[in-house]
Amino acid sequence: MALSAAVIGGGISGLASAVRVAGLGHRVTLYEGEDFLGGLGTTFGYQGGHLERFYHCILPTDTALIALIRELGLESRLLWRGTSMGFMYQRRTYPLNTALDLLRFSPLTFTERLRMGLMGIRARRQGLNPELDEVTAADWIKGMVGERAFEILWKPLLSAKIGDQYPALPALWLSSRMNREKNTGAEVKGCLEQGYRSLIDAFERHLRERGVEIRLRTQVRSIERHGDLMALRTDDGKRESFDFVVATSPLVQFQRMTSRLGLDPAISGLKLDYQGVVSGVFLLDRPLTRYYWMPFVDSGATAQGAIEMSNLVPLERSRGLYVTYLVNYTHRDSDLFRKNDAELLALYRRDLEALFPDARRSVVDQFLFRAPFVEPIWTVNYSRIRPPTAVIPGRLYLACTAQVYPRVNSWNSCCEVVEGMMPALAAETAAVQVGGRAA
Ligand SMILES: Cc1cc2nc3c(=O)[nH]c(=O)nc-3n(C[C@H](O)[C@H](O)[C@H](O)COP(=O)(O)OP(=O)(O)OC[C@H]3O[C@@H](n4cnc5c(N)ncnc54)[C@H](O)[C@@H]3O)c2cc1C
Repeated sequence: MALSAAVIGGGISGLASAVRVAGLGHRVTLYEGEDFLGGLGTTFGYQGGHLERFYHCILPTDTALIALIRELGLESRLLWRGTSMGFMYQRRTYPLNTALDLLRFSPLTFTERLRMGLMGIRARRQGLNPELDEVTAADWIKGMVGERAFEILWKPLLSAKIGDQYPALPALWLSSRMNREKNTGAEVKGCLEQGYRSLIDAFERHLRERGVEIRLRTQVRSIERHGDLMALRTDDGKRESFDFVVATSPLVQFQRMTSRLGLDPAISGLKLDYQGVVSGVFLLDRPLTRYYWMPFVDSGATAQGAIEMSNLVPLERSRGLYVTYLVNYTHRDSDLFRKNDAELLALYRRDLEALFPDARRSVVDQFLFRAPFVEPIWTVNYSRIRPPTAVIPGRLYLACTAQVYPRVNSWNSCCEVVEGMMPALAAETAAVQVGGRAA
């Protein structure tokens, strides 16, 4: 007998959960508060096409995501391309990809460059050693390369990913990231020929074909008990019951929705804050650099760095224009996050024009997007407090970014959390079928 299931959230965690739960034969209703699917990977319309609101790429090691892309019939649309990284220091750009680049990186002393090289080898050897969970990334790096090299090179790289919350990051997070990104020799990144829109649309088609009901513009306010069942209260005042629920909202929102369920304090009281993001998207009539991404360090810029997406994504997607993202990872309560779109765009335009004089004449269009809950701010020993996916076995599950640790926050890691949740979910909901519901 099929059970009724609700999935909360239409980002990758919700879409992947809905595919898997519907695959078990259950009747699924997916709730999404916005009027679009895709969550942080969503797109905006541009000149008859679609561009990502936030820069997104796929890595060859993203096996769970690539498997889903294959299942949805889009694997032949995956494009792979060699990419590279630049590093702007005091307004001068350095390539930073090979051992030779590192040896030539003159902001560091020769000894510091050698220590940096050794760090790469040591970090790879340590891999995902659980002891790395107990120390901060900052202390781990300083121990290997020294204070000065940390300040010049590593601190900006960490802040370019998490902003001013970098001191909290555990070393395990960093080693996981280094393993994900640099374990295949030359850097290669992937994208879909028609962008994330094509993947989100493929998810939607797949779900509708399997009878999944998708309710957009429907925010879930609370998750409650209804006898043995779970009930969702939505912001339109309706209350609906399901045999089980899979929530994929960021942890802080999940805690708010379940505040009256009396959950284990290890989940309800877990303090995990998130960094938000502000991001300017610039369309230019010529490229800025040949690099996919480049942190701006000690260069007087507001942005923490630039991602030049057109060094990965085909130009046809942007009607021949070059797409660059200028980004800040910053808390939703920060002054920067609170600035209005025009102010932020003006700051980013100033960055572009100061750092790349040609940009003054080449910007054709610009857009600004922001998101309040993006990067969980991991703290040391997070492995010990990471919430389980089975919150009330058989009834309530959680698959969200709070559980990707020590993997990096990505579409692939979200898919891995979902795949990891499924064996217990399948068994526990089968027990509900036999015992609770059918009895
Ligand atoms: C600037 C930036 C760059 C990134 N770069 C990459 C990259 O290169 N590669 C990569 O793989 N990943 C990248 N990511 C990370 C990636 O976007 C996230 O890991 C992923 O999108 C998280 O998916 P999610 O479904 O868990 O959460 P989200 O995408 O946040 O989706 C959650 C969804 O749930 C909905 N929701 C929440 N609560 C409720 C509720 N109560 N009721 C109804 N709906 C609700 C929200 O509206 C949202 O649509 C990047 C993210 C950002 C912001």
